[in-house]
Amino acid sequence: MDSSHPQEQQAETRLVTSGRDTKAQKGFVNPPVFHGSTVLYPTAEDLHAHRGEFTYGRHGSPTTKAFQETLMALEGPQCAGVGIVPSGLSAISTTLLAVLKAGDHILVVDNVYRPSRNFCNGMLARYGIETTYFDPLMGAGIDKLFKPNTRAVLVEAPGSQSFEMPDIRAIAEVAHARGALVIDDNTWATPLYHRSLEQGVDVSMQAATKYIGGHSDIMFGTISANAKAWPIIAEGIRLLGVCAGPDDVFLALRGLRTLSVRLAQHHRSGLDMARWLAARPEVARVLHPGLETDPGHAIWKRDFTGASGLFSIVLKPAPQKAVDTMLNTLKLFGMGFSWGGFESLAIPFDCDAYRTATRWAPGGPTLRLHIGLESTDDLKADLDRGFAALKAAM
Ligand SMILES: *Cc1c(COP(=O)(O)O)cnc(C)c1O
Repeated sequence: MDSSHPQEQQAETRLVTSGRDTKAQKGFVNPPVFHGSTVLYPTAEDLHAHRGEFTYGRHGSPTTKAFQETLMALEGPQCAGVGIVPSGLSAISTTLLAVLKAGDHILVVDNVYRPSRNFCNGMLARYGIETTYFDPLMGAGIDKLFKPNTRAVLVEAPGSQSFEMPDIRAIAEVAHARGALVIDDNTWATPLYHRSLEQGVDVSMQAATKYIGGHSDIMFGTISANAKAWPIIAEGIRLLGVCAGPDDVFLALRGLRTLSVRLAQHHRSGLDMARWLAARPEVARVLHPGLETDPGHAIWKRDFTGASGLFSIVLKPAPQKAVDTMLNTLKLFGMGFSWGGFESLAIPFDCDAYRTATRWAPGGPTLRLHIGLESTDDLKADLDRGFAALKAAM
């Protein structure tokens, strides 16, 4: 989906105004949800030429066009196209299948989303594509891991459990000198807070299931690419036949319209909770790149304009049973996977079992928290109760 970018406006304005075609919608602000497969052609000549703005449901509709134009406007002028896929994981798998071929090699950051790792170790390995995992903090040192057949580097900043912050600019410089594409999982910050295509990334994908949807009610993925990568991504989407249901596309567009206010609140509440937690006696460390004390803070400050509401904490050593008692005591923090919705979440995690390039030894039990849109006073009171239960169970 190609369109012009009204780049003179601020991102908040572009999120509200882009992708609107009120005249075509008889004055309504929003596009309808087009449920459709067949598109009728007026003449045999049009049919032969596949002529028409829309040609078949899988290839797009006015609903998907409105979403794509809005996300393109947010990504910025480097964005040559936006692909729509049915989940965040399919954004990763579609991108990798589109970009790689048998005999290729890919470098993948060791703090990558675990199902991305499973895809590399499973399907890519079966198709004769070799993966090497790299230390998220190695920066330009990644140069020594390149091989003549290294075709792509997959990064995620910060990793969505352990929150190390790779230096994407340094990695991209090396990758481009080596003729490789840089693929970024930009789900944590979204292009509102991390304009990765402007920082050397060629393909920026997101689990729009998270902050773009924003209400824990859709599965959706997006793939944004620059002019160099878009043709191969567009071809991959077309050949694989991936698309998304129109109701989810509509809800994702609705999410984009309010992304700036929701994310600003997640940013504020997340930092407030992170600072409060850092001062708790039960907490050994808070893993949040927005904190001045975090090792990733300088890169975050240089490359990001905000943080989302997802971060982790390392507790002082405690038996798992006591941590489970704490989790069972929490009322506002639900236990469940995913994040980016309006609600707060807490889950335990341990990446040591599956990391291969680095050791994960934080020195205590780890919890990942998603700070939702509840009052932070209430969230602190909930954690207060949780910490009391943790202490009582030790
Ligand atoms: C959730 C998530 C995904 C996958 O998204 P789904 O829509 O659940 O398939 C990919 N990357 C990151 C960082 C995620 O947190």
